[in-house]
Amino acid sequence: MKDTVKESGCILVAPVDEQDGEAQVEIAREIERVYAIPCKTAPLIQDISFAFDTHRNQFNSTLILKELEAHAPDNVLKVMALTSSDLFIPILTYVYGEAQLGGRCAIVSSHRLREGIRPGMDYRKIFLCRLVKECIHELGHTFALRHCRDRSCIMHYGRDVADVDAKSRQLCRYRGIMLNDELSRMGKGSG
Ligand SMILES: [Zn+2]
Ligand SMILES: [Zn+2]
Repeated sequence: MKDTVKESGCILVAPVDEQDGEAQVEIAREIERVYAIPCKTAPLIQDISFAFDTHRNQFNSTLILKELEAHAPDNVLKVMALTSSDLFIPILTYVYGEAQLGGRCAIVSSHRLREGIRPGMDYRKIFLCRLVKECIHELGHTFALRHCRDRSCIMHYGRDVADVDAKSRQLCRYRGIMLNDELSRMGKGSG
């Protein structure tokens, strides 16, 4: 059996400096459910100091995506990197994550996903739910999916954590069809 993994391909959940094992398991399971592609979890790059901006005290996510792309093995279809560091792109104050549209790499930060969780709320459940949603969302961009107006759709743009909380973990019907088209184009479709 030669290149079995290459033929089937997988999505790599790649913790950068995020050590939350329970979250990694949940993310991998939900990615497999939504995208129907097997996941494995292993670090790819761990030092992101090259992307640190001393003026903003944040990490430039676009630079990290380029580095992930440079390190991604051929048998990996997509890379879903996880960090606890605060991310930015130059035109925005911060981002929850970033992805290469129609490319291979995405990153999500847990840094700001704990905001607004009040005493009495199920802190852990809400945090994990937000993290999973952001990963499914950013990965959607790597499958060439753009933002969606449907507020319940996972591809809806979340300006703040309230928007993230409001959306479901699902693609809307229209984005679901677009995903299947993209999977077929990649040779991963079911027919
Ligand atoms: Zn987005
Ligand atoms: Zn949608």
